[in-house]
Amino acid sequence: MQKIFGYVRESTMQQAMHGYNIEEQKRVIEDYCRYHFKDYELEIFVERGKSATSMNRPELQNLLDKVKKAKASKVIFHSLDRLTRDIADLYWLINYFDKNQIELVSVMESFDLTSAIGRSHVYNSGVYAQLESERTSERTIRAMKQAVIEKKYPFSHSPLGYDKIDKMLYPSKDENQIKIVKYIFNTFAENRHNYREVVNEVKKRFDYKMDDQAIVKLLRRRLYTGTMEYRGVVVENYCEPLIDQKTFDDANENSKIIKKRYRRTMYLFQNLVVCADCDSRMSHTCGTGRHKKVYEYYRCKVCGHRASQDMILEKKAFQLQGLANEYYRDNSGYKEKRKQIALMRKNQKKLVEKQKGQGIDVETFYELFLNYENEINALSKELDNIERKELYFDSLEKTLQKEIIHKYVKLIRVHFKNQGYKITVELIRK
Ligand SMILES: [Zn+2]
Repeated sequence: MQKIFGYVRESTMQQAMHGYNIEEQKRVIEDYCRYHFKDYELEIFVERGKSATSMNRPELQNLLDKVKKAKASKVIFHSLDRLTRDIADLYWLINYFDKNQIELVSVMESFDLTSAIGRSHVYNSGVYAQLESERTSERTIRAMKQAVIEKKYPFSHSPLGYDKIDKMLYPSKDENQIKIVKYIFNTFAENRHNYREVVNEVKKRFDYKMDDQAIVKLLRRRLYTGTMEYRGVVVENYCEPLIDQKTFDDANENSKIIKKRYRRTMYLFQNLVVCADCDSRMSHTCGTGRHKKVYEYYRCKVCGHRASQDMILEKKAFQLQGLANEYYRDNSGYKEKRKQIALMRKNQKKLVEKQKGQGIDVETFYELFLNYENEINALSKELDNIERKELYFDSLEKTLQKEIIHKYVKLIRVHFKNQGYKITVELIRK
């Protein structure tokens, strides 16, 4: 009697969206065995909630371990992407099973793994699975949106003040965390401090390290009022609020005013603002408001129209945040890394073509191919890290804000007559 192992896998996020669920995969494997073999014993390893881009999967490791001891004859899986989506891992797996004289069977794809040509075919498919894995990041975002709608928290690290239990957020058991969150919101709601003071105070009172950016991020997080926002999806009553709406609004309002009070005059949009009514460039000037606060204005000498800098900042906040992100990417080698990856992908494709035309031997092909693959993986990880980081425009130094604006913005048009101060931004095209 021969011993056969099956392997089925689903990742939590993807399973909800598409793909084959565990039971379906099991059924396919069982049917395959019934149809092809007479005397056999089938054991299926069930992997839940794991991604195929990592080898760090308990059931896969279990399978690899048992396969040696049990002298299994075959490992059967539904399709290649259940086993792995990573070409380097695939290469390793095929070698491993080969060494242990175990036949790999994919029910949905008919690969002949006993011949070199058949194997190179698998590797080529592995390439496509890898590309597929990149495309899944879009699907993953969709799945994450779905999770948010279902009031699940799709990120691994829960925000300060909350614990993640059974995929959902609950006020943290660590009361210190909640105290920090409340302290920060209350402090700003009462309009007492500036960022630096709060950073120091949090360190002193709670022995907790935060920087300006972390404080801004926390203050902007609507989650603390119980409402979750994720890429345009807004879900109310998502979790138990730690902060009431009024405190949240006041804190956000004040945290912006505080910045204004401590600043010196700075014309962020110097020489960029144009009066759309008469098409002439507006000059900068300042005026004094209540409590002797100084405000920057842009003034049209022809029509006499005035537009305040704060108004432009407020109306274009979203776009300016976008520029801050772009600036960060421009200055972190993001674009160069993307280009390098594209180039290596291109070389990989050329290599595949060469191999198809029998221009190089299989061994050399694998080695070169894997070299590219490893480099691409390393670069992709760096890109991921860059993508995860964000600069918050409104918490940046004024000089940096100005630098960013002048790097990307060509013109800012302010429409006055009957347009309610509509503002359009023209960017420098590169
Ligand atoms: Zn004008």
